[in-house]
Parts: sequence; structure tokens; C-alpha cells
Amino acid sequence: MFKQENRCDFILQHYREILIDAKKKGYQIITFGSYANLKADKKLILLRHDVDLSPDYAREIAEIEKEEGVRSTFFFRVQGTYNILGSKTKKVLSYLKENQFEIGLHSDAGLFAETQSNLSEMLAFEKKILEFAVGAKILVVSYHLPKKSRFLPDGKTIRQCGFQYDAGEPLFNDGFVFNSDSDAKWKRDLCVCQMLDKNERIYLLAHPVWWAADRSIRETLREEAKNGF
Ligand SMILES: [Zn+2]
Ligand SMILES: [Zn+2]
Repeated sequence: MFKQENRCDFILQHYREILIDAKKKGYQIITFGSYANLKADKKLILLRHDVDLSPDYAREIAEIEKEEGVRSTFFFRVQGTYNILGSKTKKVLSYLKENQFEIGLHSDAGLFAETQSNLSEMLAFEKKILEFAVGAKILVVSYHLPKKSRFLPDGKTIRQCGFQYDAGEPLFNDGFVFNSDSDAKWKRDLCVCQMLDKNERIYLLAHPVWWAADRSIRETLREEAKNGF
């Protein structure tokens, strides 16, 4: 067995171990779209990735998941620190699409909208740009820094904009135990590997950056994250 102190590091090797262990314990690891269409009642991990910083980190996570036969939902920003229409991002989006990962919008609309009324305009605009970049309809949305946002769209607004799901809605939260690795710190003060077999349904938000970035730059990024990327 691994030594406890090394075992739960935010490194790609441990990310892979979590997937392997979850599968061994009978969990189905799925995307938001698959869950919404699934009526089965069994052990599940709803797997969400918010691509806050770089598509390169997303690609590294996706490659591991592909090797382990897992699919998840990657939420991309349109107004973030990377260029959603750039050639580097395009390659990652193509890889995800070709390998049946789900792509959603990680919306900054709430941070930038000046009024409630231009919130939906901005959300629809972000959706359209991401759909152009991906070459497919985008059906699910999550929010970047929701606590800092002036406004958040309600269910009616997101459906008017053509989304089917909001990652925060009850469908994906009722009956699930949520854990997230925000700022490389577990929200539940417990690595998700230690929730396996104790919780039947887990909603895991894993930011690719914390697992894939070099340890040496992780601390700098954590500092920057305090002010918002
Ligand atoms: Zn762990
Ligand atoms: Zn975010």
C-alpha cells in the first residue's frame, strides 16, 4: 500500500489511482448529460472539471481518463485567461469531442454582466462562441466564481439561452455528496479517495490545474487564485 502522507497529493498519479479505485469499488463515473438521461440507481461519481486556467491541463486529465475508460464533463471559459478560439485550445476541444467527453460552458457572465438584463445576453453570447469553437451544441453550464458574481442566471434564463442543464441545479445535487479541490484544498477536508464506499453518490469537481500543474508553480497559482483568475 501507499504511504498515507504521499498517497493524497494533488498529482496525476493519485488522480489515476482514484479512478482505478472507484471503478474497482463499482462506481460508474459519468458526465452530466449521461446522468440526466440515466435512470439507474447505483454507485455514481458525477465528474466535473472547470477549466479555469489552461486547456493543456484539461488534456492531461482527459488522457488519463481515456486510458482508464472514464468520461467526464469539461467546462470551458470564454472570457478567461486562455483564448477559446486559439489553435492550442482548438486541438484540446477536438480531442475531447473525438473521445466522447462532454463539453460545457464555464460561464463568467455573472462576473462581467452590468445588469440583470444583459446577463442573459452575455450568457447566450458565451454559449455561441463556445459552440463555434467546439462545432457542437453546448447543453450544460457551470459558473466561474459564483460567490463573486453580481448576478447568476436562474433556471428560466439558462433554458431560454438554450441550455438544458445547470451543473448547480438540484438534479445534480440532491442525493449527491459534493466535494471539490478548489485552490488545491479539499472542500470536505478529505480526499475523494477516502469517500469511496462511504458515499454512494459523489459529485466531484476537480480542477485540472491542481493535478497537472508542476508542484513548483502550484503555490504561485494558489496565491493568484485568491484574487480570481
Ligand atoms: Zn486520496
Ligand atoms: Zn472556475
